Amino acid sequence: MLNIKVKMLTIYIIRFLNVNKTEFIEKARAIYGDEYDYSMVPERLENYSVIPIRCYVHGLFYESVYNFLKGCGCFECNNKEIK
Ligand SMILES: [Zn+2]
Repeated sequence: MLNIKVKMLTIYIIRFLNVNKTEFIEKARAIYGDEYDYSMVPERLENYSVIPIRCYVHGLFYESVYNFLKGCGCFECNNKEIK
């Protein structure tokens, strides 16, 4: 059920070019929980904006809104999961 919800949110966000910070954080939290710090995300962003996100474990990284909401989080965290 949760996965379907996340997928629908992702489809929703892809359809709209402009996303505000609040919406972005809500959607990001639905996917990642409290894994990341979004305090450096700008107020207005677009799907392909590259934004600074801070991983509480590995620190700052940059990712596009589109990729981040598709599930590409912190590179180091992803590596860990594969191992
Ligand atoms: Zn990380």
